[in-house]
Amino acid sequence: MEWCVSMPKIELHAHLNGSIRDSTLMELAKELGDKGAIDFSAVEHVILKNDRALNEVFKLFDLIHILTTDHKTVTRITKEVIEDFAADNVVYLELRTTPKKNESKGMSKHSYIEAVLEGIRSVDSVDVDLFDRPSADISVNSNFEDCLCNGTGKKKIYVRLLLSIDRRETAEAAMETVELALGMRDLGVVGIDLSGNPLVGEWLTLLAALEYAKKQGLQITLHCGEVPNPDEIQAMLDFFPRRIGHACCFEDDELKLLKKLRIPVEICLTSNIRTETIASADVHHFADLYKSNHPVILCTDDTGVFSTSLSAEYALASSTFGIGKREMFELSEKAIDFIFACDRVKGELKTIFASALGKFN
Ligand code: 5GP
Repeated sequence: MEWCVSMPKIELHAHLNGSIRDSTLMELAKELGDKGAIDFSAVEHVILKNDRALNEVFKLFDLIHILTTDHKTVTRITKEVIEDFAADNVVYLELRTTPKKNESKGMSKHSYIEAVLEGIRSVDSVDVDLFDRPSADISVNSNFEDCLCNGTGKKKIYVRLLLSIDRRETAEAAMETVELALGMRDLGVVGIDLSGNPLVGEWLTLLAALEYAKKQGLQITLHCGEVPNPDEIQAMLDFFPRRIGHACCFEDDELKLLKKLRIPVEICLTSNIRTETIASADVHHFADLYKSNHPVILCTDDTGVFSTSLSAEYALASSTFGIGKREMFELSEKAIDFIFACDRVKGELKTIFASALGKFN
């Protein structure tokens, strides 16, 4: 659907290493194959395979991480991911990534995020807003294209970073990520995400770091309910994060509590279907949450791994649930309320959406 592409959109759940272009992954795999570090022919079909159960996805991430272990590559993939989201008319992107140590490459968690920031700074085809600064001059009288270009002739995208804690990490490693995020608040880092294979790791191991992050004013989003785990779901809801991702395996009473607490849910339709967490789009819990006016945000999760885009997610929701153009526009605009950036950014995004409204009535 053409209008899904042209509509301004807000992406709040995108993992950097899950959003790499297939062509880049293949190139990186080929380079490592040529050096004899990996068996390219064995890796090729893994990269190009489309349907994977949830557990297999995490095996793929382990492979992707082998391909993206040096600073230069981290910088490159960050730049490309931002360019790809901007090309899809994503006007605000909250990109999340797990800071990684790799002693053989001289990489620390800090230098990993520095490489990500270098990637953001190196984007030149699009104007990137990464820091808080005085209000930009976006007039409400401008049209959508002018707003998107901010008068420079270039598209504009707001980018903020979330640092992810992987469920496999120790309590100390999680705390290190939180300290890193706190030290980089002036550089575009706005919060913490908890992700990684939901079948491994313990909530209690990571709780102290998450509580500390929250106390220090970092915004928190948790992957919650990707697999049935009533104790963990309850504990996560009690923690009261600013948002959660997925919420696929909620029992009725958990759903009731979620609705009562009005915690916004990042919905990743294609990801949930591809990983067989949800049988098909038409039975996805998005429909119930949307109908009951619960805050929901359509997101991609991993555009590369699941071969999707945010436009494709909007098109899928529109066609599956019979939601019209105007309502989809409103859904997209509503996401502004749930971003982790400051009020200045929220105000500017509202202006961008106001100027685009006429096209989506
Ligand atoms: P990275 O943090 O390395 O930039 O992005 C890949 C990582 O994001 C994966 O290793 C995994 O920890 C996390 N991730 C990506 N997609 C998913 C998902 O669907 N569910 C969960 N729980 N974690 C994910």
